[in-house]
Amino acid sequence: MSVPGAAIVRPLPGDGLVGRDGGLSLACALPGRSDTAAVDGLLTALAEAAAAGESGHGLVSRTIRVLAGASGEECPSACAVAGPAPDGAVAVLVAGAAEARVLTADGREITITGPSRDGWTERLISGPVARLDLRLPGAGEVDPRLRLTSGVVRAGGLRQITQSPRKPASPAASSSPSSSRPSAPARAPAPSPSPSPSDAGGRAGSPAQQNFVVPLPATRAEQLPTPPKPSTSSAPSKPRGAPEPQHVLGVNCKNHHFNDPRARYCAVCGISMMQATLAPFMAPRPPLGVLLVDDGQTVPLTTDVLIGRDPRQAPGIAERTAIPMRLTDDEGSISRRHTLIQLDGWKVRLVDLGSVNGTAIKTSGAPDFERIAPETSVPLAPGTAVRIGVQRTFRFESNREA
Ligand SMILES: [Zn+2]
Repeated sequence: MSVPGAAIVRPLPGDGLVGRDGGLSLACALPGRSDTAAVDGLLTALAEAAAAGESGHGLVSRTIRVLAGASGEECPSACAVAGPAPDGAVAVLVAGAAEARVLTADGREITITGPSRDGWTERLISGPVARLDLRLPGAGEVDPRLRLTSGVVRAGGLRQITQSPRKPASPAASSSPSSSRPSAPARAPAPSPSPSPSDAGGRAGSPAQQNFVVPLPATRAEQLPTPPKPSTSSAPSKPRGAPEPQHVLGVNCKNHHFNDPRARYCAVCGISMMQATLAPFMAPRPPLGVLLVDDGQTVPLTTDVLIGRDPRQAPGIAERTAIPMRLTDDEGSISRRHTLIQLDGWKVRLVDLGSVNGTAIKTSGAPDFERIAPETSVPLAPGTAVRIGVQRTFRFESNREA
């Protein structure tokens, strides 16, 4: 089992059961009666998810199957599970009277409780997460002498303290809404591969952008051997004339999702990439994320994006290696060709094209925007906000690791 970020887990005093296996955590109350089928099912779910090398999404999914299959009386009165998810996030499920408390590395405190009625609450907490408590009713205070590496013990909950492997550079909380039905646990960013010019109401003075009309030339890489299997189930059904994505070297997860060879978890289904024997091959690059523009537009990153007041005549556009994204403001602070988003293999980078009013970025948790040097390519981490000129902004979001 490979789990990013070594974690210390301490059981909290109490009367339930707490399990820890392969970086995955479970706390559940013991039923008053002798019927422990659901509890056994939860312990089995933990063991099986760990044995399969699954992420927190996998454990959440298995837990939902157990809870959904148990009748009202069988269900434990309180239960919570958690485990790591892509991009340093943590997948959490809370049911009944249990509670999860999360402290992120950038100081956000998040408390997740079960729904007031039947069902459960499922959340994806964007990381890095500094501390995670799963608490059953009546859980005692943490005893720093206690430690649980792996196994199942009588306890009222657990505290997990993560020694962050990466510096905090992650998106603000993105929570999936509460759920009370079984659902696919992993949520890909799934930007639409066939974007259409937004007709969403932009604010006044924000003309619609003109995107995604320029096809890319075929790349030499396309002449390379055919991959063993096409990638995702959301394989693009491209409109005529849309850009063909570049081909990049990647690997498939067990579920045939095409990923960055360095990824620890599949960006689509969240499964651990450490389990399979991975054979890299060339295939069309999936979207590397999305730009969420301040006027509500969403721009999938399928190729380079040239941002500016009038980017259409720019060289990259004419050569069809980039798509134009028109951005204007009332102050006139945006240059004709202002900023370029570069897709470099599996990485996303940003270059200010010597604009007059500059490009500034604000990584998640940073107090303010910082202007980047002109004509210099800088990496763009998921969760980073970008300001073009004095006012217009967008945020880069991705399930893929930075
Ligand atoms: Zn996958």
